[in-house]
Amino acid sequence: MKITKQKGTKDIFFDEVKIWEYIEENIRQICKENNVSEIRTPVFEATELYARGVGNDTDIVNKEMYTFIDKGGRSITLRPELTAGVVRSYIENGMNSLASPLKFWYVANMYRYEKMQKGRYREFAQFGIEIFDSDSYLADVETIKISYELMKRLGLYDKVILSLNSIGCKECRDKYIKKFKEYLMPNLDNMCETCKVRFEKNPLRILDCKEEKCNKILENAPLITDNLCPDCKQDFENVKSALDKLNIDYKVDKKIVRGLDYYNKTVYEWTSKDLDLAVGGGGRYDGLVEILGGQSCPAVGFGIGMDRLVLLLTQYNLPKDIDNDIKLFIATTNESGYIEATKLSEILKDNKIVVDINITNKSLKSQTKYADKNNMNFIAFFGEDELNNNKIRIKNMKNANQVDFDISDLDGILKFIKEGNESNA
Ligand SMILES: [Zn+2]
Ligand SMILES: [Zn+2]
Repeated sequence: MKITKQKGTKDIFFDEVKIWEYIEENIRQICKENNVSEIRTPVFEATELYARGVGNDTDIVNKEMYTFIDKGGRSITLRPELTAGVVRSYIENGMNSLASPLKFWYVANMYRYEKMQKGRYREFAQFGIEIFDSDSYLADVETIKISYELMKRLGLYDKVILSLNSIGCKECRDKYIKKFKEYLMPNLDNMCETCKVRFEKNPLRILDCKEEKCNKILENAPLITDNLCPDCKQDFENVKSALDKLNIDYKVDKKIVRGLDYYNKTVYEWTSKDLDLAVGGGGRYDGLVEILGGQSCPAVGFGIGMDRLVLLLTQYNLPKDIDNDIKLFIATTNESGYIEATKLSEILKDNKIVVDINITNKSLKSQTKYADKNNMNFIAFFGEDELNNNKIRIKNMKNANQVDFDISDLDGILKFIKEGNESNA
């Protein structure tokens, strides 16, 4: 029987993998420019980390985790998100004693057993940033700024919308929950069973309910954003005003509460303008380090779905200049051809030319076909005749121009390739 890939996973190759590499290169570059350092944490962690860090009442922990008992009897979970793992690492490695703030980024695969939708997989990748130990709103602004820089660099900024909200601190949240519960109380009998449980255990989560009858009741519910304490209110105003000054467009969406328990104060989401698609989001999570056993430490971060970015770039036929390398294929007929071609390729590669050398016993005709199918710009022939005469024949695949060069005539070879490439463009 044929073995096929698992539901919710995919193979990425050829044209699609180029888009992934393009996004990853831009991420790496932007993080480097902003002095954010990479962090790599394990794919699996103790299940307890997510139960505590993400929250026992969340869909992620209740329904979506890949959890198993390993051969040593430990309960292990494939990471469903990365913030909890990064916080665990921060605490475990005593990073609170280092000069702060600490700024980390990652691009990593994560795993959630969930319903399949457009751009949503059971194995998916996210680009994330986590910043530790700054309680200033400027840290919030910094994470938004970095995600904005990425959207701009990828050519997606005018294709996405940034929506902001504030969900307050513990103080305003406790007051709000009281008010919210008072509002819900007379309607509770008409709500779904899940919401009835949430009402006792975690009332804020009611705001995430997708049931129509619950949504109807929620239409006129008080919103946390309208019930912020003076500090939280000022903090949110500061974030907005800084974004205004940086010319980063946003809209306030009081319905955003984010799916995870650990957020507070400013939260935000990037969504696609044309497709019904969340691209990413983030916010402040000042309580999480303490929840996971560390000393209290403010933190802020975001996660952006890599699959979503790929989907958008594909949708808009971006980027345009993804494959602008000069590519040369060297056709050969024996081992000496391969050796000579390799020696020559060192200089060509130093000049940023991609060199692909024949490694088959195929005829020159079928090697030419391979070069054509692989969009090579030039093909060079190192057949026996050429080798015996210390020559190499190079042909411009686009205009069929071809010239025989002495192998030692490196300047001539490079000039032919560079000038030929310019005339092809
Ligand atoms: Zn507050
Ligand atoms: Zn409900």
